[in-house]
Amino acid sequence: MHEGYIAQGILDTAVKSLPSEKAKITKVTLKVGPLTSIEPESLDYYFQELARGTPMQGAKLELIQVPAQIICKNCGNTDVYGEKHPIKITCDKCGGQNELKGGAEFYLDSMEIEE
Ligand SMILES: [Zn+2]
Repeated sequence: MHEGYIAQGILDTAVKSLPSEKAKITKVTLKVGPLTSIEPESLDYYFQELARGTPMQGAKLELIQVPAQIICKNCGNTDVYGEKHPIKITCDKCGGQNELKGGAEFYLDSMEIEE
């Protein structure tokens, strides 16, 4: 993952959606899937560097993990896959093969603005 590139993208999107020129962004919340392999510290570093001199300077960056789902191809049994739930190849119920659904999510969820 290229955290610098990602940080720039977030910054551009956030600044573009500001309601006025005087508005400042104080906090940005991002939703992140377990398969994105984004390093939060690295992203935060680039973000703080790139935000200098923009309405986003000093904004707090919050990353929220969104769990992915694993679904059995055989019986349809679903399970959670995330930080605390390692991926299971086979289904607990029938031993069938599990399929991963989602996990690569990465998007700007919300932001707090000060005018
Ligand atoms: Zn199953």
